[in-house]
Amino acid sequence: MQDSFSVVLFVLVGALLGSFGNVLTLRLPRGESIGGRSHCPHCSRVLRAWELIPVVSFMLLRGRCSTCHGRIAWRYPMVEVSSAGLFLLALSLAPGVEAAALLALSLWLLLLIAIIDAQVQGIPDVLNFTLLIVAGAYAFVVGTPELFPPLLTGGFFFFQWAVSRGRWTGSGDIILGTGIGLLLPTVGHALLMLACSYILGAGVATVLLLSGRSKRTDHLAFAPFLALGTLLTLLWGDVMLGVLLG
Ligand SMILES: [Zn+2]
Repeated sequence: MQDSFSVVLFVLVGALLGSFGNVLTLRLPRGESIGGRSHCPHCSRVLRAWELIPVVSFMLLRGRCSTCHGRIAWRYPMVEVSSAGLFLLALSLAPGVEAAALLALSLWLLLLIAIIDAQVQGIPDVLNFTLLIVAGAYAFVVGTPELFPPLLTGGFFFFQWAVSRGRWTGSGDIILGTGIGLLLPTVGHALLMLACSYILGAGVATVLLLSGRSKRTDHLAFAPFLALGTLLTLLWGDVMLGVLLG
């Protein structure tokens, strides 16, 4: 069990990074500067300090801008809460606070990558490479890095990329796959992560096709499913592998 100081610290940092993540997911795909002050998307008024507190400001403002009363999207507090939740999860999963901090940052990066890929069907290189570095540091802190999980997950996407000459999968997926592999302890977990991601992706694609909400030719962003597959594997990978391998 973690001490309460770590728990409070991780929740607070997670919520703050969630707030920063909202800025990054909006501005990175558009190539905008991430340094500028946050402003209301409706009336462009620069937000005051008290309007920038994760979740709390949204509740105080009841989801509306205090000047123009334009609606503040639900995704802002949702990303903040999700980020705080991922930080707590990392604290409960990782051995030690250093490893937990690195795992938390990795999961936060995966959340941003999933959101951006879902929005614009592409992942900024800066996020993929940062994940690779942070996940690598996590693997080192946890112990001797296992080479086979990242080789398997990265190689899986490299193979698809090479065979299809970049049509089935982008080169960014190779880096993303390698980064995710560094978070997984064994080859079994790596295979499970890929299986979960593809099953989830196929399930959602089928529902979208049957409901007529997407056409066969539509491209479905895959990073959200990789992120979900990774989360499921980190949470219940040991249990699932135990059942599958008898
Ligand atoms: Zn406004």
